[in-house]
Amino acid sequence: MKTFNVPVIYRSPLISTIKNQRKQQDRMKKDFTPTALDFGPLKILLARHFGFCYGVENAIEIAFKTVDENPDKRIFLLSEMIHNPHVNNDLLERGVRFIMDTAGNQLVPWETLQSDDIVIIPAFGTTIETENKLASLGIEPLKYNTTCPFVERVWNKAEQIGKKDYTVIVHGKPKHEETRATFSHSQSNTPTIVVKDMAETEKLARYITGEAAPDTFYEAFKGQYSQGFDVTKDLQRVGVVNQTTMLASETQAIADYIRQVIVAHYGLTEANAGERFADTRDTLCYATNDNQSAVIGMLEEPADLAIVVGGYNSSNTSHLVELCEEKLPTYFISAPEQMRSARQVDHWDFHHKQEIHSDTFLPEKSQVTILLTSGASCPDALVEGVIRRLLSFYGLEHKADELTLVD
Ligand code: SF4
Repeated sequence: MKTFNVPVIYRSPLISTIKNQRKQQDRMKKDFTPTALDFGPLKILLARHFGFCYGVENAIEIAFKTVDENPDKRIFLLSEMIHNPHVNNDLLERGVRFIMDTAGNQLVPWETLQSDDIVIIPAFGTTIETENKLASLGIEPLKYNTTCPFVERVWNKAEQIGKKDYTVIVHGKPKHEETRATFSHSQSNTPTIVVKDMAETEKLARYITGEAAPDTFYEAFKGQYSQGFDVTKDLQRVGVVNQTTMLASETQAIADYIRQVIVAHYGLTEANAGERFADTRDTLCYATNDNQSAVIGMLEEPADLAIVVGGYNSSNTSHLVELCEEKLPTYFISAPEQMRSARQVDHWDFHHKQEIHSDTFLPEKSQVTILLTSGASCPDALVEGVIRRLLSFYGLEHKADELTLVD
């Protein structure tokens, strides 16, 4: 896979060494067991895959290069480039400004933009409406485009099935930038609807089978369907694509469920299910798959707790947290400093969207085992920082430089 020129402050020689070693041993990426770092009283099991993905490195390279090459121009990002506060703050410090926040609220009025301004499209991509808006201001919309190719692959898939008259069901968070972009691109070809989870999918299924009154659809899915959506016609042939960072198992379950509802409702068989259900199984992003599989592999090991590092508004990170929470006390942190001491930690409760404080962080026992991973927008330098800070609680900081890798 292509390598990118990412600022050295985001790299970690320690983590790069571990990742390279694992890569050499497992080129086909079949081994999802964690890397064991045994420091005596502290044992860290580091996920097989974590940290910056292709799309994030690509976006960071383009954004920093654009800043370096255009010292005299005003540079804007449509919204947060990736969901990591460290990277976004570094860009802000270099004078870059965000036009919108992550919820789509305007921070910089469109009318203040000028035709010689640079506007960078983030890794999530953007809507056709925004592209048109930029064009109307005389700004070439795709000149500084960091849209991830794996997001574009989802758009292409939606377009392909849309052109075959399937309605597109997008499994994603309705307000997330990527889902809004995918929705926009998809609806330019075919009727499109967003479902955020299985509960909404089950609700949608009642309109497919006719159990729910059609006229209630428009309130039930307000803001989540394309203009002109006709619930009586547009749910007869469907395909499912996803926001690339959703929980892979949930997208699969949603696609399987819709398929089964369609097959049963229309009396289809396995052989002819494709007449009304488009096969889209390949829209999951490789990084989401790898990182989630690595967490599932890591959770097979006995441990006391899990730490997940990443931006609080990062969708892919929150799904790693969700997986860990099923089995262990899990701490979602965005920086090492949040671990104030061996007992005190500030961490994010993504269910209630608030930072909370715990004073029962590390258990008192002869060896504490911690599962550690990070999201696809988290610099490895932060993960190294977490390892070093954990070691400091045991007076073992020096051990990070003389790592013992245990099979
Ligand atoms: S998580 Fe996947 S789709 Fe999203 S930016 Fe990374 S590689 Fe691209």
